[in-house]
Amino acid sequence: MSFNELGLSPHILRAVKELGYEQPTPIQQQAIPAILAGQDVLGGAQTGTGKTAGFTLPMLHRLLANHGRGGRRQVRALVLTPTRELAAQVGESIIKYAHHLPFRTLIAYGGVSIKPNLDAIKLGVDILVATPGRLLDLLTQGALTLNALEVLVLDEADRMLDMGFITDIRRIMKALPDQRQTLLFSATFSDDIKALADDLLKTPTLIEVSPTNSTAEQVNQRIIKVDRERKRELLSHMIGRNNWQRVLVFVRTKQIADRLAEQMVKDGLDTVAIHGDKTQGARNRALADFREGKVRVLVATDIAARGLDIDNLPHVINFELPQVAEDYIHRIGRTGRAGRGGEAISLVSLDEQEQLKAIEALIGLSIPSEILEGYEPSGKPTRQTLPSNKSVQNPSRDRGHANAKHNNKAAKGKPGAKGKPAAGKPKGDAPKKPAPARKREIVGEDIGFTPMRRLPKTQRDDYQDNSNEE
Ligand code: AMP
Repeated sequence: MSFNELGLSPHILRAVKELGYEQPTPIQQQAIPAILAGQDVLGGAQTGTGKTAGFTLPMLHRLLANHGRGGRRQVRALVLTPTRELAAQVGESIIKYAHHLPFRTLIAYGGVSIKPNLDAIKLGVDILVATPGRLLDLLTQGALTLNALEVLVLDEADRMLDMGFITDIRRIMKALPDQRQTLLFSATFSDDIKALADDLLKTPTLIEVSPTNSTAEQVNQRIIKVDRERKRELLSHMIGRNNWQRVLVFVRTKQIADRLAEQMVKDGLDTVAIHGDKTQGARNRALADFREGKVRVLVATDIAARGLDIDNLPHVINFELPQVAEDYIHRIGRTGRAGRGGEAISLVSLDEQEQLKAIEALIGLSIPSEILEGYEPSGKPTRQTLPSNKSVQNPSRDRGHANAKHNNKAAKGKPGAKGKPAAGKPKGDAPKKPAPARKREIVGEDIGFTPMRRLPKTQRDDYQDNSNEE
């Protein structure tokens, strides 16, 4: 099937062509006709499947069909996402797909000044991509009404519920007209999601293109058994010996993320951590540097990395297995995207056997495991502690000169801004207990903000005006 067969506007097809998409992905093949027909959709799909274009392209087509009918410009499409990072990513995609269309798009999320959002709304917004908290702020301030809404998209609804946004979502729903098209996407379908879908969707078309284990099948998965306290040493060794240049490492807690990043820098590897306690600016920088290859290792907590779409990410490492088995699928889904191969390696210690069983049951696969020479597990279960601070034997030597700069930096004790460990954490800090459940931890990224037409240049905003109107 080609995009041309789907009945989309030529202006949309042009953007798709310019992006180099040759044919619609399976979710696009199913979602586009249903959404064009005005149906509500319940979609079981993860990021990486082409889901964003799957809902955006037909949404844009429908908005275009009724464009200019109403008087004042009002929000006609709302996309709700659980995290700032995902809002930025989805919003950026929408701006690309709408490149030849006369719409104004605003991306609004918390943690940054609300003033640019207010300015953009005054100028007029057709498409709003927002996190629930920021949207409620805008609604309660009276800055925005959603009476003219035609399409509502809930993206990663399962994560929104996990993060405790249900009350916010229900409050937002009260501000929406009943007559609208609703599209709900979720990677998993708990009873809570089903209840939400029952409330929000009218006789939805069900689209399930990516059963939870399909990502798992695309990604080459391995387990390396190792004692917990030797994980960091092994990780640095593997990165160095294999000369990996872009590695995403998952840990469970913010404290471990900071601590591990600090130690990796000492090992001569340019590393940064992202998690919810980092400032927006620091998170933006870390992601931009990682994407541009200035930072080699990104250590992330689950929520910080949720939905990240990083081109060409061949290696994902689970430094620790996640507490929630579904997070394993989300984690390894960061690699092997858009049909590219990827490798996910989990460093598993004896105390993680229960999590491993739960993950294998979920994905329906037994993940091959191995033991590396020199890193054989002692066989004794270890306390859940932070990795040892013992320095690895110069992993960069294996890599020739590639890391000389970083080694120098580390040797001088000046990791530089990018690799700067969290301040104020004394060495040998006792570990905090791993967080029991997900908190509202959100992260943002620099999306290469598009230039604004009429807002002051000094404000970096997420507002794109394609309307050519004064
Ligand atoms: P998503 O699942 O929306 O996060 O998309 C994952 C990645 O696939 C993004 O980098 C998109 O640019 C890319 N993508 C989406 N649709 C297509 C397509 N039809 N052909 C090729 N790449 C695509």
